Amino acid sequence: MTEKAESPAARTSFFYLAIILVTLILSVIALSLGVTALQGGDASAGSYALVGFIGLALSAYMLLQTQRRPSRVTFEMPQVITTILCQKCGFKNIRDFQRGDYVFKEAEPCPKCNEKMMIASIYREVKEKEKERLS
Ligand SMILES: [Zn+2]
Repeated sequence: MTEKAESPAARTSFFYLAIILVTLILSVIALSLGVTALQGGDASAGSYALVGFIGLALSAYMLLQTQRRPSRVTFEMPQVITTILCQKCGFKNIRDFQRGDYVFKEAEPCPKCNEKMMIASIYREVKEKEKERLS
């Protein structure tokens, strides 16, 4: 069983966090502009502050979304397993599906009795994924 080190979910959340960070920085800039405008008695202070607060709220909301992960899209290739059975001694060999495999196809000789083995079944392995539970 081989698992790819780079998962698409991790990449997506990194991209998402970058967007949140940019939104956060922009809203902080807007807020500081609002404070500066307020000190200068500028009428636009309110709108700057509003933009800043909306930005902060938006980034906070997005941050919550990443933790919840509502749409976990995973593109996982199903693991297909080929079972090879020795008709003579009952030796069973399980390996990954290979191109050209089909049921009742003659496979490599049995390592126990040297009799020609046969592909008994080909099936898709359903992996039990560990459910990530929110605390
Ligand atoms: Zn055998």
